[in-house]
Amino acid sequence: MLPAPSTPNLYDLDRGRLDVLLGQWGLSPLYRERVWTALHRQRVTSTDAVEGLRPEHYGLLRERAHVGVLPVHTETASAAGDARKLLLSLRDGQTIETVLMRFSGRTTVCVSTQAGCAMGCVFCATGQMGFVRHLTPGEIVAQVLHVCRLLDAEGERLRNVVLMGMGEPLHNYDAVMEALDILQEPTGVALGPRYVTLSTVGVVPGIRRLAAEDRPLRLAVSLHAATDAERAALVPAARKWPLAELMDACREYSARRRERIFFEWALIAGKNDGPEQAHAVGRLLEGMDAHLNLIPLNPTGGYAETPSGATAVRAFQDVLASYRVPSTVRQRRGIDIDAGCGQLRAKVESARLRPRPSAAGQA
Ligand code: SAH
Ligand code: SF4
Repeated sequence: MLPAPSTPNLYDLDRGRLDVLLGQWGLSPLYRERVWTALHRQRVTSTDAVEGLRPEHYGLLRERAHVGVLPVHTETASAAGDARKLLLSLRDGQTIETVLMRFSGRTTVCVSTQAGCAMGCVFCATGQMGFVRHLTPGEIVAQVLHVCRLLDAEGERLRNVVLMGMGEPLHNYDAVMEALDILQEPTGVALGPRYVTLSTVGVVPGIRRLAAEDRPLRLAVSLHAATDAERAALVPAARKWPLAELMDACREYSARRRERIFFEWALIAGKNDGPEQAHAVGRLLEGMDAHLNLIPLNPTGGYAETPSGATAVRAFQDVLASYRVPSTVRQRRGIDIDAGCGQLRAKVESARLRPRPSAAGQA
C-alpha cells in the first residue's frame, strides 16, 4: 500500500481550480495551461513529465501536489479480445474495477464510483461486499485517464463512458458530477455529453437533482422488477423509493431533458422473466420514451439463481413489443474475465480469504 499523500491530488481539480491553485504557487497562465494539458491531453503520470515548465516548477510541484494515478493490481483480457478488465489499487489499499470494452468499432470504459456499494442488490457482486467508501473525483477521473493512456498507445480514442462499475453513482453525487465536469472539459479528455451514461439503482432525489441541474448525460435506471414487493426482494434500497415515486422522477427527468431513459432488467430464470412480469413492466413503461435493456443474469458467488434461457428472453421481448416498449438483449461482455460488476474483485478477495468489509448502512 502506498502512503496516503497529504498534498492535493491534481486529478481532483477542474481546470478553473487547478488554475487558481497553480496561480497561488506563482505559475503564470502559460505554465498553468501546460500542466492542465499535460495531465488531461497527454495523460502524463507525474508532474516531472510535464514539458516546458521552468526548472524551479518541478521541485515545487513534486513537493506540494501529487498526481493520483491508480496502479494496476490485476489485469485480465477476454478470450475474444473485446474486453479488458482492470482491478486498480487506491491509496488506502482498496481496489476498484474498470473495464475497457471494444465492440463494433466503439470504445467504452465502464468506471466505478464507489468502493463497494450500500444498496445491497442481492444478485450483484459489489452489493454482496457491502459499502466501503465513496471515490473522490480524482479517483474516478484516474480510471478514465488510465484507459485513455492504453488507447493512446494504440492510436485509438475513447468514445463512451458508462458509470456502471462498482458503486451507486447517485449515492456519490457531488464527486461523480465533479469528475464528469473534468472529463467533459473541451481542452481535456473532452467527452461528449451524449457519450456518458449514468446507471442508477433508482435514487429518486438524485434523479430529480439531475433533472433540475439539466445535466448533459444519458440516464439508465436499474428496474429488475415492476412491483414494489418483487423489486424490494432484489433491490433492498428500493424500499426507500417506491416505484410510483421512481417513475414520477423519471417522467420529470424525461420531460426536462427531452431524453429517452434506458431501463435495465437483469433476467433471472423463474424470478422476473415470466409473462406476468413482462406485462407488468410493459404497462409501467407504455407510452414513455423508454428503452429496456435486458441483461441475462451474470452468476455471482453470493446468489444461487441462474440466467434466463433464450426462449424465455424471446417471449419476454414479444410481450414488451405488444406495449410498444423497445428492448435489447445485452449480453454481458467478457463473462470469462469476471467482467460483471464487482466480480473480479470478489474473486481476488476470496482467493486470498480476506475477510470482506461489512455493509455500512443504506444510502
Ligand atoms: N449501481 C448502479 C450502476 C452499477 S451496476 C446500478 O445499479 O444501476 C450496473 C448494472 O449492472 C445495473 O443495471 C445492475 O443491476 C447490473 N448488474 C449488477 N450485477 C449483475 C449481475 N450479476 N447480472 C446482471 N446484471 C447485473
Ligand atoms: Fe450497487 Fe448497482 Fe450493485 Fe445494486 S447493482 S449493489 S446499486 S452496484
